[in-house]
Amino acid sequence: MISTGRQSRVSVVDSGQLTEFAVEALVSVGARPAQAALTAEVLVAADLAGVDSHGVARLRRYVDGLRGGTINGTARPRIVDERGGVSVVDADNGLGQPALCFAVDLGTERAREHGVAAVAVRRSNHIGIAGWYTERAARTGSFALVTTNATPQVTPVGAVEPMFGTDPVSYAVPTTGEPLCYDGATSVVPRGVLERLHREGRPMLPGWAVTPDGATASDIARVIAGLKAREGYALLPVGGPGQDLGGHKGSGIALLAELLCGPLTGASWSLHTYGAQGANLGHFVLCLNLMALGEPGRIIGDIETMTAEIRAAKRADDEVPVRLPGERRHRSARERSANGIPLPGPVVEDLREIAELTGITPPRLRTPLLASGARDMPPARGERGDPPGLPDTIDLSSGQIVEPLPAVAREAMCRMLLEPRVSAYAPAPGLPELRSAVASHYERRTGTAVPPEHITVTAGARHGLFAAIAALARGREILVPVPHWSHYPTVVRQAGAVPVTVPGDPARGLLVDAARLEAVRTPRTAALLLNSPVNPSGACYDEDQMRSLRAWAACHDIRVIIDDVYWAYGSSVDTAVHAGPHELVVGGASKVYALAGLRIGWVWAEPDYSAAVQEIVEHTTGPVAVLDQAATAAVLRQENSAGGTGSAVAGDGVRRRAAALTRQRAWALEAMAAVPYLRPLPPAGGIYLCLDASQALEGRLLGAANDQELCRALRHHAGVGLRAGSTFGMPGFLRLCVAETQDMLRTAAHRLTVCLTTAADTVNYH
Ligand code: PMP
Repeated sequence: MISTGRQSRVSVVDSGQLTEFAVEALVSVGARPAQAALTAEVLVAADLAGVDSHGVARLRRYVDGLRGGTINGTARPRIVDERGGVSVVDADNGLGQPALCFAVDLGTERAREHGVAAVAVRRSNHIGIAGWYTERAARTGSFALVTTNATPQVTPVGAVEPMFGTDPVSYAVPTTGEPLCYDGATSVVPRGVLERLHREGRPMLPGWAVTPDGATASDIARVIAGLKAREGYALLPVGGPGQDLGGHKGSGIALLAELLCGPLTGASWSLHTYGAQGANLGHFVLCLNLMALGEPGRIIGDIETMTAEIRAAKRADDEVPVRLPGERRHRSARERSANGIPLPGPVVEDLREIAELTGITPPRLRTPLLASGARDMPPARGERGDPPGLPDTIDLSSGQIVEPLPAVAREAMCRMLLEPRVSAYAPAPGLPELRSAVASHYERRTGTAVPPEHITVTAGARHGLFAAIAALARGREILVPVPHWSHYPTVVRQAGAVPVTVPGDPARGLLVDAARLEAVRTPRTAALLLNSPVNPSGACYDEDQMRSLRAWAACHDIRVIIDDVYWAYGSSVDTAVHAGPHELVVGGASKVYALAGLRIGWVWAEPDYSAAVQEIVEHTTGPVAVLDQAATAAVLRQENSAGGTGSAVAGDGVRRRAAALTRQRAWALEAMAAVPYLRPLPPAGGIYLCLDASQALEGRLLGAANDQELCRALRHHAGVGLRAGSTFGMPGFLRLCVAETQDMLRTAAHRLTVCLTTAADTVNYH
């Protein structure tokens, strides 16, 4: 059995419920209600912000401290000295949160009076996340800096013994939105992060910690235990060991925190903070009111210009935006406020123990993410029958490329908003500018003239497919090569035709050839539905194969419907697409232009078919939304003007996406190749990767008898969302979308490895 740390089920809880529970727990062991409420608020704020190490995971320690009398539940922080803008507060050995909050509120008030204020807090305890306090101060118009000391875990540079706490330093400044807030430990990683990584089964890196004899530590479990038991293990300061990468600077900043919170404040420095009688931690607060600097409006404007410039800096990795401190926390807080807070098993266990100990009701947990047994899965919902996305799940099940709307699209929408036609029906076949832009794309790609009248705009490519099939083949058969996009058979049926599946050739990447088509052709065969690169397999038809399929179809008077939605993501661009007596093309903006939400597709067909398609559009969806058409037209125009012709047709955005996907396919393939019991099929193009799960199914891992059950179990147990191959006509396979970051793909692969290996150990697979 491989070590997964304390990896186990993850449950979800509402932040309100969790706060109520923490308040009750603290009050039940003697905390004053107002102080309990504030403490709970700070703890849950950490959970919301995704700083799980400082959230309710700490509650047990507070409860124990209050019960054991090492924390004073009836403490009242009070000012013991005050000169000008400088105050000293005695926290009376109470909870750290109310004490530091008292100090921050005092600091902002004094800063309003004096311009600048410092508050030193002594005889205090753990304070949770420092950023909560600086943000609170920033919201009153102050720049604020907060630091605290903590139990010794960090070695100074040149030593191998814990002398400093992980002493966070936080600062925040007001902006017109959320404050800009930095909050970071002065060690490379704090212990809480090690604990989280360990729970996730991930390793630690060299340069994070040393063993008691000064060697580089690599055993994460040992380091965590050694730090807890104070066995001489030490974390390294920011910059790592020695001076090569600036360890002396990290050490210097930790010393600053120790000086401010220890000697200057009159509290203990870290080495002496926790005695038998409890802690004597110190905190230090500095507030500088922007009014005192004059021109607060100019200052905030300058801060926002500066941060915008930083965000726009050339990226180290094209895929990863430049982030400013605090952005990830704010995003997490929004997401977790809406969806709930995921709590790992050990924390849930702690809360349950606290409930038992104090006689209060534990918080109501929502959906378990990694629970045992798939029976308590939430009911299937949505078109794919997948359970809803849960906060901790890495969802690779859907095929989306999500990007911010390009500036030209936003501008086009804004311009359209001011035009009278914004509130009128668009012409049934589409806005002229969009039809022209689509026509121009195909013109550049194929080198032949394409009249805009041959283009019909539809509500997404799927409605284009529906309309094309209904126009061509109602009451007749359509050949659908297998594997296929999961919606094809239903779309075909709903369009009044009969899907006839044609198995692809395993020796040719599951592609079909004329012989396979010929084997199922009947007099009722009206059309062949072709998609390249194929969703889900990523296999691509080359020009010879396409030529031969087209020739076969023409010979039997069969139409070919080309589903062109992934045209730029193949091994080569199929420049030979064309609309003619035997062929029509369905395209769309969702995939290649990353505009799925706009729901724009189109059909390129000769006049007779176009008329039939338009008739169907007119009587089903009617004209498509004007704003979405205007935005798509602007994006296509931009891409047309930046691109070349023929196979070099892709503009800048499309080229960037295609290049990114090539890398992402390679990452996904590499990551998934390391997962036992699943075998990836190398894709030539597209945005997906298929995994052959036959080994996992033969072993009945996770009790799964088929790919659908395995898919559900992996979402449930591993927190990885995949799609079952049987929906694509590939039973025994799983599909994942590769349009994700390298980190997500690696984490997903790791979770799958841990989950399947553990499952295999459990069923004695070997
Ligand atoms: N065709 C294929 C092969 C697809 O994979 C998809 C979407 N996943 C579509 C068509 C539908 O595209 P749209 O979002 O434009 O409806």
